Amino acid sequence: MTAPRFFGPEFSELEAADPEIAGVLTDELDRLRGGLQLIASENLTSPAVLAAQGSVLTNKYAEGYPGARYYGGCDVVDRAENLAIERAKALFGADHVNVQPHSGANANLAVYAAFAKPGDAILAMSLPHGGHLTHGSKVSFSGRWFTAIPYHVHRDTELIDYDEVRELALVHRPRIIVAGATAYSREIDFAAFRAIADEVDAILWVDAAHFIGLVAGQAIPSPIPYADVISATTHKVLRGPRGGMLMCREEHARAIDKAVFPFSQGGPLMHAIAAKAVAFREAHSEDFRRYAAQVVENAQSMTTALVESGMRAVSGGTDTHLALLDLSHLGVDGRTAEGRCAAAGITLNKNAIPFDPAPPAVASGIRVGSAATTTQGFDAADSAVVGTLVARAVQAEAGTAAGDRELDSIRGEVAALVGRKPAYPRA
Ligand SMILES: *Cc1c(COP(=O)(O)O)cnc(C)c1O
Repeated sequence: MTAPRFFGPEFSELEAADPEIAGVLTDELDRLRGGLQLIASENLTSPAVLAAQGSVLTNKYAEGYPGARYYGGCDVVDRAENLAIERAKALFGADHVNVQPHSGANANLAVYAAFAKPGDAILAMSLPHGGHLTHGSKVSFSGRWFTAIPYHVHRDTELIDYDEVRELALVHRPRIIVAGATAYSREIDFAAFRAIADEVDAILWVDAAHFIGLVAGQAIPSPIPYADVISATTHKVLRGPRGGMLMCREEHARAIDKAVFPFSQGGPLMHAIAAKAVAFREAHSEDFRRYAAQVVENAQSMTTALVESGMRAVSGGTDTHLALLDLSHLGVDGRTAEGRCAAAGITLNKNAIPFDPAPPAVASGIRVGSAATTTQGFDAADSAVVGTLVARAVQAEAGTAAGDRELDSIRGEVAALVGRKPAYPRA
């Protein structure tokens, strides 16, 4: 078999050595090409990023930082890390950048390590209101080792309740205040968070894991002027390799670097760091700025179509790449909706909505994102079609003859749509 495009020349060697894993790779490529990818935290990296990631740099041990490693032979990989750092600084206007965190969660662990001691109070967005597990959930180190104080969205507007954030900050005097979430579709008022942090002398940490790509593409305001430290992933809207990164003010540089290595990580993944450098270069372009603007336009167009089909957009809409839809009015729960969409070739996730009466494993909503489809070249009109296909799938009663016929027919329309603008086109 000839290597499918987007697998390097080494693919034939993998096929010979390990046909089972080679089959996983080709099947996953088929899956990406065959359906709609609406998971808000996923994207489709470029062939250049894939090439850097799947490279001989995976071999090198480089504990330490460029110019100060614990191993010999690091001159070459130092160039990759220096390029990644310099490109990220230029892209975001950051004082200091650390590109070594293996993932977003690892970057977050380093933030705690740099600024807090076990038991310290941390003020962060409540998980069921859109926060992340690493913001104080009991199932994560963050909730086990620190005293998490959750803030919420306002019941009426479903926007962050900044009055509550301030009140809680004044009462609990947290060491760290976290701005940033995993299921919040609106712009965050970083200046308001800064003012509250200053009032109680807390560190302001912006967890930009989801939206850092929109910041890179200048589609939303940057937290850089406000935050003491910013953690991010490189694989969400930013469209780089799977990984994390940290940016901070110069005064915190040493604390952050030490918190990553040697406190919480060993040797850096130099192949991933090289791929991050590639992604930063790609993101520092007019093309990427157009991409980021299109991502937001597409999320809005998709959301409008979903609302016209009877769903309710939490907070009334979106300013970003993602939207949270409440399905209560349709009488369908999130888990059922996710399953029906999967049967129609649409991959998305069920999601709790603020003040959700349903348990998390069922949930009253779904979350959709536009980062991957926009990479495929979808425009606002395509995205409106995506919205109507999702809405039809959610309402098709799987298991009934009519429902299954409808899901089959949606699956066909999905295949036609992604066939016109495929992920990883063949030639
Ligand atoms: C995705 C995400 C993370 C974690 O990133 P991983 O790479 O999955 O560890 C952390 N914080 C927020 C807000 C996220 O959305």
